Amino acid sequence: MSEAVAVRDIEVSVEETPENNELSTEYTFLCNFCQRRLKTSITYGGIYERLVRKSSGFYCPNCIRNGFYTKKRNDILQMTFRGIFGYIYYRCYVSEGFSKEKTSVFLAEIQDAIDAHARTGLLNPAFSYDPETYIWFVDFSKIGVNKNQMGIQDVYKTVVNILVCFNIAQVISNVQMHKLYDKYNEAINLFYTQRKRTEGRRRLLVPSMQGCGGTNETGFDYEKTRNFLPRDLRIHS
Ligand SMILES: [Zn+2]
Repeated sequence: MSEAVAVRDIEVSVEETPENNELSTEYTFLCNFCQRRLKTSITYGGIYERLVRKSSGFYCPNCIRNGFYTKKRNDILQMTFRGIFGYIYYRCYVSEGFSKEKTSVFLAEIQDAIDAHARTGLLNPAFSYDPETYIWFVDFSKIGVNKNQMGIQDVYKTVVNILVCFNIAQVISNVQMHKLYDKYNEAINLFYTQRKRTEGRRRLLVPSMQGCGGTNETGFDYEKTRNFLPRDLRIHS
């Protein structure tokens, strides 16, 4: 094994090449919109660059496919529920070093809830979903008061229906659902009325369970739940 350094405009990464010291044909970049970290080949990376050459930065295939490298992105609110199921994973399944929440869950139950939340959200045609990052892209050009738009209430209803999928009140102690719901509600309202993102330059709306009940435990890392990804959903013995 030998190492070579692949260098692009915005990201430098060390890659392993199997046999020699030639420059790696793979490199890693961060999507300029969804912040997804993607490893790709020079060939596909070249295609991504060519398609978005009038924009600055790199975009992942999902964001290119949906036109999020254009002005369209100004109407897209990115949000995720992974702060919730990340919490359930670490507190109801792994619970290593922390007291368990009131109900233990199986890994398959968490996966089922994630699948159910995806199916539920996709019933709303303003919502699209990337299962590799658990990120939802809500298209607010479809939301408003015109005849061909849905009302903002339809967005709130979808969020409630998604939250129901996690069975939160049954598995987390002293949960305060209204506080959790308000985190989504306020951010959605701000984006709807002013196109402002509560997370500021961090574009992704990613509420955690912090301050919404649950077993209080100093030292619990809520940030870890906000960054929860499919690769973290693994068997723990
Ligand atoms: Zn992206």
